Amino acid sequence: FNRLWGTDSHDLLQLPNILPTTKVQPPQINLGQDALNKANCSPEVFRCTMTKIPETAALLQKARLPLGMLIHPFKDLNYLPVIQCNVIVRCRACRTYINPFVSFVDSKRWKCNLCYRINELPEEFQYDPVSKTYGDPSRRPEIRSSTIEYIAPAEYMLRPPQPAVYLFLIDVSRLAIESGYLEILCNILLEELKNIPGDARTQIGFLAYDSALHFFSLAEGLNQPHEMTVLDIEDVFLPTPDNLLVNLKDRLELVEDLLKLLPVRFGNTFDGSSALGAALQVAHKMMGPTGGRVTVFQAALPNIGPGAVTSREDPNQRSSAEVAHLNPANDFYKKLALDCSAQQVAVDLFIVNSQYVDIATISGISRFSGGCINHFPLFKSSRPLLVDGFQKCLRRYLTRKIGFEAVMRVRCTRGLSIHTFHGNFFVRSTDLLSLPNVSPDAAFGMQVSIEENLSDCQTVCFQAALLYTSSKGERRIRVHTLCIPVASTLNDIIHSADQQCVVGLLAKMAVDRSMQSSLSDAREALINAAIDCLSAYKFSLNMGSGSSGLLVPECLKLLSLYISAILKHAAFRIGSSTRLDDRVKAMIDLKTKPLPLLLQSIYPDMYPIHNLENQEVIINEEEEPVPLPPRLQLTARCLENKGAFLLDCGDQILILVGPNVSKEFLNEALGVPDYASITDSFCEIPLLDNPSNARLHNFINYLNDEKSYPAPLHVIRDNSPNRIVFLEKLVEDRLENSLSYHEFLQHLKTQVK
Ligand SMILES: [Zn+2]
Repeated sequence: FNRLWGTDSHDLLQLPNILPTTKVQPPQINLGQDALNKANCSPEVFRCTMTKIPETAALLQKARLPLGMLIHPFKDLNYLPVIQCNVIVRCRACRTYINPFVSFVDSKRWKCNLCYRINELPEEFQYDPVSKTYGDPSRRPEIRSSTIEYIAPAEYMLRPPQPAVYLFLIDVSRLAIESGYLEILCNILLEELKNIPGDARTQIGFLAYDSALHFFSLAEGLNQPHEMTVLDIEDVFLPTPDNLLVNLKDRLELVEDLLKLLPVRFGNTFDGSSALGAALQVAHKMMGPTGGRVTVFQAALPNIGPGAVTSREDPNQRSSAEVAHLNPANDFYKKLALDCSAQQVAVDLFIVNSQYVDIATISGISRFSGGCINHFPLFKSSRPLLVDGFQKCLRRYLTRKIGFEAVMRVRCTRGLSIHTFHGNFFVRSTDLLSLPNVSPDAAFGMQVSIEENLSDCQTVCFQAALLYTSSKGERRIRVHTLCIPVASTLNDIIHSADQQCVVGLLAKMAVDRSMQSSLSDAREALINAAIDCLSAYKFSLNMGSGSSGLLVPECLKLLSLYISAILKHAAFRIGSSTRLDDRVKAMIDLKTKPLPLLLQSIYPDMYPIHNLENQEVIINEEEEPVPLPPRLQLTARCLENKGAFLLDCGDQILILVGPNVSKEFLNEALGVPDYASITDSFCEIPLLDNPSNARLHNFINYLNDEKSYPAPLHVIRDNSPNRIVFLEKLVEDRLENSLSYHEFLQHLKTQVK
């Protein structure tokens, strides 16, 4: 009996404070050798739901955990070895890139760790340019690091590397103009034009659309851009063959003129139509010869011409358990996306809508072309919070690095097979993803099955290779290799679970389930996943059916908490009103966001910030002290009237200020004279010259350091109607028609057999 209550077992019902006060670290993969552990891929890039792989499918079945991988392949990295060589060393049989986990038969031959073929080493590989000696291949960077980038020789190109080409599609319908986004967009573009990735060959173009298509010729010698309007949107054509996409450097002044002119030109429109489909068809024609990136700014429901949709949201269904219309209304956008993908064109969406725009349908243009989708619901230029979020997101988008005409292939050791991919791409063949663009903010998931007994293997490997053209016209291959040991006992497998990665994969699987079956089936599958894992653990402990409690191993103790939280996520919640577009976008995020952001959207990080002077401190890179307050569980029980609490939701940071917070905190940290001065549009904490303010800024900057751009901030007074935005994130509490975490555990207890 004592063995059960050893260090590793917890009874969830006896653990009211389950959340660690510091960040949950990914579990370590132990390969038995320090050098190999050090060489293994970073969990920030490549993560498996288990740190040990079951040796048979039957064992995996017994563990009742999903087996799969999450990958963030083009993440911005601080350190990346780049190699230029004449010959890239790859297995002759399975084309795996040489990596730290191969074995050397002798100094001239290596054994592939995926298919076990023995390969010859080229002469070049045995030479160490540092010591100028031959014979020790393990000194090579390919053998010392699991993440590496090659500059590809000519045989990796089907054509000369394409230049960076950017086309902007701009909705100028009445709703679009009323939202006021156009002027903000043009101003940010004017500021960032010089920072867009590219070189002397970079091309740019613009197309505006309402019920017609408005082309802009930027021909050499023009005093100002020349507008050409095409009224026929049923059968699109280009009004001129040239000067719609132009060299950015040569025509910079004309481009700047156009960006100043656009808001004026369409400022007084009454055109209520938005011909998105026709605009996308034109974009495909314009970009086809080169490939590149199309960025769409859409504010209204596309209601005219090809691809037109009608409003099909039933507002009475917003909180229903059965939500209709999660799937596209037509296949126009998916089909066009596949045409775009074939021509190396990706389409990204910025949706700045005030009404339903049918994201379920129009998102197809991005999902199947390797694009991304950004959403700013209820956008109005008069709302500072929304404007701040839009500007930050747009700046990051315009200046982040980009890869063109990319493909990604994921290989795995013989006996394993990858069967389902999650993310935005087109699957060209079983393991080859076509990515017309690749972004450093895009992540992917895949499910893995065990096809053959792995008992002869000590370890298995996964290798992802991303081949792309850089914005400077270089063909490059980024390779990540992850090595995982194989285990043969149920106990070993269950104790190897990576609960955060499991949740990430389950979320993606649940989105698919919602689309293929129904929202209630998806919710049931999530609950069953929690029940399954608790039941499997109970079975592994060999306990009779009479025993009480909900036992979990340390590595899975947060899984039930995360699952109870995800049932309240905008993607899957029922009972509280959720607009259809918002729900669909939440589902898209679960399929495409990197794991840390995804976890913060499910279970945000909450910290007290009214007493930062009493907290532990670390020193940041700028040698400033950063206070580290303890993370709190997401329940109103943790809030106090005299406190202030920060909620890091990943893509936004919310601060709730209690009514009795100290005057010093208000004056010094927040820089307001009194409580009532915290307005509903408080979205920037001023920089003041006092320690309290510096501590708060250092802490917020520290949280932002982990993000691709600083999260928009919203400070909320406890007696403001906005407090609901904060309170609905307290997912451990009972919300309208949804169970509290404690009630959820009671439900699990009745189900665990
Ligand atoms: Zn091989």
